[in-house]
Amino acid sequence: MTKHDQLHRFLFESHSVRGELVSVSETYQRMMENHHYPLPVQQLLGELLVATSLLTATLKFNGDITVQIQGDGPVRLAVINGNNQQQMRGTARIDGDVDAASRLRDMVGNGYMVITVTPTEGERYQGVVALEGETLAECLDAYFKQSEQLPTRLFIRTGMLDGKMAAGGMLLQILPGAQEGSEDLLDHLVQLTATIKGEELFTLDVKEILHRLYHEEDVTLYEPQQVEFRCTCSHQRCADTLVTLPDADLQEILLKDGKIDMECEFCGMHYIFNDKDISEIKIVKKESLH
Ligand SMILES: [Zn+2]
Repeated sequence: MTKHDQLHRFLFESHSVRGELVSVSETYQRMMENHHYPLPVQQLLGELLVATSLLTATLKFNGDITVQIQGDGPVRLAVINGNNQQQMRGTARIDGDVDAASRLRDMVGNGYMVITVTPTEGERYQGVVALEGETLAECLDAYFKQSEQLPTRLFIRTGMLDGKMAAGGMLLQILPGAQEGSEDLLDHLVQLTATIKGEELFTLDVKEILHRLYHEEDVTLYEPQQVEFRCTCSHQRCADTLVTLPDADLQEILLKDGKIDMECEFCGMHYIFNDKDISEIKIVKKESLH
């Protein structure tokens, strides 16, 4: 039985620890549909998708999170972007051969992971961690250890189910203002959660999973949220980007090509702007400045 992609939030009442559980298999399959990435790249994007979904669900405001991996290996870039409505998109840029047995470091080489949190209103925040772990989960653990954020652990599973790609994961995070000793409780819950198998995440009902993992704990489960593949690019968003570029650069492209063609790197959609469009965008910008 396939489940629709959902994100579940839960709380350990007596532990000051919150949790999340997500299944993203449909979103993952749709995201991969029009690409021909080698299998290890697909797996990496699946893991990034799970991580991004779990992280955006921790946002207390409207906004989006981009989790990207960059390096000097054949996989130049692997990136997932998702917002607090759980609309996810992603892409990878490959330059060279990725063989079937490639692991994270083989694919990315010397690289790093960048997590960018962009509130709809307010300051953007960016955290960077060198890619030193063997897996994405290890890199994320390093990120949370070095940043001054709440202690957080992620559990990521990818695999196949009925011949289709599947992905899911879980997150545990200490609540702000938690009492001393919460870290020990987190460790205890981490040990229990680490036993989760991909197949369980992909197929079982959330209540069944929580019961299997934490049957001695008091867990409150909240209403789920739908997760979906959706690119959030638009003509307006491209216009907003264009307006930040120097006039001379825009004029140069317009003179050369007669138009500015912006391609969305996530979905491949093209947005075309001609001379007149650019003038209009600038007028709107000037008006909004006054
Ligand atoms: Zn797009």
